[in-house]
Amino acid sequence: MVPLNQWIKIKAPATVANMVCGFDILGFAVNNPYDEMEMRLVNRAAGQASITIINIDDYNLPTDPEKNVAGAALLAMIEEYTANSIIEKSFADDATQTGLVDFSTIGFEVKINKLIKPGSGVGSSAASSAGAVVGANYLLGNPFTKDDLVRFAMNGEKVASGVKHADNIAPCIHGGVTLVRSIFPLEVIALPSPTLFVTIVHPQIEVRTADARSILKQNVQLKDAIKQWGNIAGLVAGLMKGDYDLIGRSLEDVIIEPVRSILIPGFDDLKKACKAAGALGGGISGSGPSIFFLSKEKETAIAVEKEMKKLYEGLELAHHTYVTTINQTGVEIEA
Ligand code: ADP
Repeated sequence: MVPLNQWIKIKAPATVANMVCGFDILGFAVNNPYDEMEMRLVNRAAGQASITIINIDDYNLPTDPEKNVAGAALLAMIEEYTANSIIEKSFADDATQTGLVDFSTIGFEVKINKLIKPGSGVGSSAASSAGAVVGANYLLGNPFTKDDLVRFAMNGEKVASGVKHADNIAPCIHGGVTLVRSIFPLEVIALPSPTLFVTIVHPQIEVRTADARSILKQNVQLKDAIKQWGNIAGLVAGLMKGDYDLIGRSLEDVIIEPVRSILIPGFDDLKKACKAAGALGGGISGSGPSIFFLSKEKETAIAVEKEMKKLYEGLELAHHTYVTTINQTGVEIEA
């Protein structure tokens, strides 16, 4: 356990959910952008909340622990930590583990500096939820597994979007590419991947996650389902074999993208231009508005970025771009 009042620093990566064909099940972490956080355990006076959130950016996010995704994730963790069965499970086998934290007198202080813009579609909410629970677990002496941490952090996603989902949380905590085979019960599989360069563009428009979900059709034609599961299986096989051509061929979505892409100006032209520049493939990141493309070489990723800039400059739409790589470590702690 880290002594009271001692700050730790946390780096929580942005994530790209869905990975084109794997709606709600696939995702990967990237090295840029990322959120910075600091956390510590402190004594708290009676009546004071167990979590204090200090926002040190300009996004004006809620400081009420139940409304900030970091707080919601931590509340779920504290509840399970405090339940006797979990404390016994975590520490019973380890006689060296002392100093169980009594959350009636001790609390977490969390400073959040968001470098991932909320609502951008690259897992801003997941970074705060995942960063908070990985940091808290470290402060408490690591009593919880990664699967436990994903479960707690999903409570943050519920606050952000109304549903518990793990397609951003899982890669944020594990790093790399992850497959969420099941949510209840939770089963996350970390997938290997060859070196891939990622180009992301964030057009400065708002796409509400709730809207991006509500426009989806509730029924899928069997012929589309067959194409889609062929692509998901092909993508997973391509990642595991390091087969770039197979990865590229499998990055197609016949179910979600045709409906959702109407919310993103210039999407079809952008896709054509990025592919022509040599990208393996790509599409909407999460529920948008960010768009990502994967490339085998850095030079191609930079050429893809040029196409993105050209298109959005032509549309006179403000935008940010990133050229980065897949982050293999997930949330990092600097003690
Ligand atoms: P993203 O895909 O970028 O995470 P979402 O729309 O899923 O975007 O989540 C952003 C929503 O979550 C916003 O409504 C924001 O106000 C809310 N929120 C609450 N706390 C946080 C936080 N710490 N970080 C990011 N978003 C937060």
